[in-house]
Amino acid sequence: MHELSIVMSIIEIANGEATKANAIKIDEIELEMGLLSGIEMSAFDFAWQEAVKSTVLENAERIIVRPGGKAVCLECNNSFDLDSLYSPCPVCKSHFINIIQGKELRVKSVTVE
Ligand SMILES: [Zn+2]
Repeated sequence: MHELSIVMSIIEIANGEATKANAIKIDEIELEMGLLSGIEMSAFDFAWQEAVKSTVLENAERIIVRPGGKAVCLECNNSFDLDSLYSPCPVCKSHFINIIQGKELRVKSVTVE
């Protein structure tokens, strides 16, 4: 399952941060997961509940920021909101677009006590 491997790498990052700060648990973790990142939230939540048990993230408050998709058309320079990776430019229908937002998948910040 794709989502589980993502949760595992988040735990790894959190472990690293906790070690650096000499902490045994994380209070709060902020994740950035773009709407075009392909993450299925219910699968992600399920994987999270299972995977964080007995880790530094077990009782961490999770904040998830979900930036929407944005792209710029390479043909006509129009910038527009994108709700799927395969949507064309709404003005000229070109598929040559540059996605500038929405594919983020990262740990934005970690707060330890
Ligand atoms: Zn265009």
